[in-house]
Amino acid sequence: MEYILTSKDFTEALRKGKFVGLKCKQCGVYTVPPQKVCSECSSEKMEIAELSRNGEVQTFTVIYIPAEGFKAPYIVGLIKLEEGPWVTANIININPEEATMELIGRKGRIDYKEVPADNFSGGDRIALTFTLIH
Ligand SMILES: [Zn+2]
Repeated sequence: MEYILTSKDFTEALRKGKFVGLKCKQCGVYTVPPQKVCSECSSEKMEIAELSRNGEVQTFTVIYIPAEGFKAPYIVGLIKLEEGPWVTANIININPEEATMELIGRKGRIDYKEVPADNFSGGDRIALTFTLIH
């Protein structure tokens, strides 16, 4: 079994300006971030597909004790992409101190930021970000 799209490929694509995932050739469902098999039907028959970057906040939390390389407070959101999958992303263009439940349902765009290496990663890494559309 081979990886069609590795985490490294996913990161490198973002750095080149492309947000990609895997589209299942069997059921049509998108899997993001990349996995070995389709998140819906477990098929290995998937192809790389560029994503729209459009999404909607499903839920979120405000982090006050930061992970290594992050500055608190910050907002971690679960974002439903236009193509279907849910991803975790930092919601960046709102003050975390002013976040309310009204964030849920807000639309925005996925991008990324560089995050310094920590004790758990092999080198510099990225985090997905989500910019709300006003
Ligand atoms: Zn599938």
